[in-house]
Amino acid sequence: MTEVADDLFFVRGMSSNWVIIGGSDTATLIDTGYPGDAELLDASVEAAGFKTCDVSSILVTHAHADHIGSAERYRREFGTRILALDTEVGHLKREFLEQVSPKTALPHLIKPRFARWMHMAVRKGHGLDDVTVAQAAAVPAEQPLPFPGAPIAIPTPGHTRGHAAYWFAEARILVSGDALITGHETSKRTGPQMLHTVFHHDEPGALRSLARFAGLDARLVLPGHGDVWSGDLTVAVNRMSEGVAA
Ligand SMILES: [Zn+2]
Repeated sequence: MTEVADDLFFVRGMSSNWVIIGGSDTATLIDTGYPGDAELLDASVEAAGFKTCDVSSILVTHAHADHIGSAERYRREFGTRILALDTEVGHLKREFLEQVSPKTALPHLIKPRFARWMHMAVRKGHGLDDVTVAQAAAVPAEQPLPFPGAPIAIPTPGHTRGHAAYWFAEARILVSGDALITGHETSKRTGPQMLHTVFHHDEPGALRSLARFAGLDARLVLPGHGDVWSGDLTVAVNRMSEGVAA
């Protein structure tokens, strides 16, 4: 866990990451890791100086099991509000599912990296558990939200149809979710990159969404997978759009 700015914590889970936004007496999460990250998630909230029942809201980048693994648990136990872009709310409620399945991953499992990822995702991550969120609400896009640091939800459809990144304009920090990552079990390298094609609902859309990050004067990128990154985001995004390693 790293405090990347005042009261803004970046936490690396077993595969995916989450962010804790500290407030005066409540905390807000961006994503929650896998179901199997539950203990680590709760411990990170406490290490940031809060009780788990102080988490009043969870902003969701997208409704995959490795990002909403504890959302429903918090909602039920602590009354936490679960928030996402309106286009992702139905995904949270599992009115539809745009997530890699063992079947679609199957042809890739001859690759050791994919086999190891699958083992982690299913066995340790409990990635096949039911993570349906019973109640969720929509946040408006492209305007400062009423949380410390005033994050702005940036629609970045492709990975899922309602994927959001969150931009902290004053701190110049981009929480990029899975629209841009910096490492993954299935990838050989680190640094800004796209997830493997099998993980995207709409890969051409995901590539188009990258352009939305060009021009953001980001000091730090906090990705959905991989380590925190600092560098010239516009250059990185342009290279990724051309299919060149950033
Ligand atoms: Zn993910």
